[in-house]
Amino acid sequence: MTTGTSAVAGTSASTPRTVVVTGGNRGIGHSIAEEFVAAGHRVAVTARSGEGPAGSLTVRADVTDSASIDAAFTQIESELGPIEVVVANAGITRDMLLMRMGDDDFDAVVDTNLGGAFRVVKRASKGMLKQRFGRILLISSVVGLYGSAGQANYAASKSGLVGFARSITRELGGRGITANVVAPGFIETDMTAELPETQQAEYKKAIPAGRFAQPSEVAKVVLWLAGDDAGYISGAVIPVDGGMGMGH
Ligand code: NDP
Repeated sequence: MTTGTSAVAGTSASTPRTVVVTGGNRGIGHSIAEEFVAAGHRVAVTARSGEGPAGSLTVRADVTDSASIDAAFTQIESELGPIEVVVANAGITRDMLLMRMGDDDFDAVVDTNLGGAFRVVKRASKGMLKQRFGRILLISSVVGLYGSAGQANYAASKSGLVGFARSITRELGGRGITANVVAPGFIETDMTAELPETQQAEYKKAIPAGRFAQPSEVAKVVLWLAGDDAGYISGAVIPVDGGMGMGH
């Protein structure tokens, strides 16, 4: 027996929410925004360039700049209503072996991936506290807990999201707010397209599923975590990695 109506066949119905996805102009963020639009939510995408998917509102923001996030979120709230779901997705890599890694390479990655999540979550949680409802989703990486030679900056930024989500859970969990980490493995986007073919083949050998994933395979998990059925999950790290990091 089914209850209620569902915007997406095969999924349970979820209350329509106002959703913000950072870095929603391409890759995983674009796919996440698409899934939320398809499920009937009000969706805004923040982007430095380009546009979010059809049916979403695109606003300009740089996650390294608190003022630009504040302006973007204020615009979203006035056009779509109070923000109930935030997906901190924007991220960069600057891969390099530790001994060659400059302070700039470390700082830029940590400031975007971890600092960016801090800025958007802090801004979004203001309204969530008032509403006594919020869903915070942080896009980490299998590399955050697995480690990866040449990615000390990236792995540090992505594992930092785990402590961040768990601290938020302890601070805000009593106010109807959940904070979870999604840790994708290798996903076919511009970020992985940069890897040489030989390296891609090596990585595939380490993935039990034997393949990279499509962005939508991450997006559907994020959609579910933001939905009504996932209200008792918080502080969790959900892998979407074909079994690569199991046992984290
Ligand atoms: P892409 O490189 O395709 O896209 C990155 C996105 O982040 C772009 O929208 C980009 O905007 C945005 N971004 C980067 N810096 C900033 C900034 N300072 N302010 C605002 N937006 C910014 O990456 P993916 O889609 O592959 O990755 C998305 C997330 O998933 C990242 O956090 C990444 O670390 C994570 N991830 C990806 C994996 C993969 O295999 N692809 C695996 C595990 C995790 P712009 O277009 O303006 O540069």
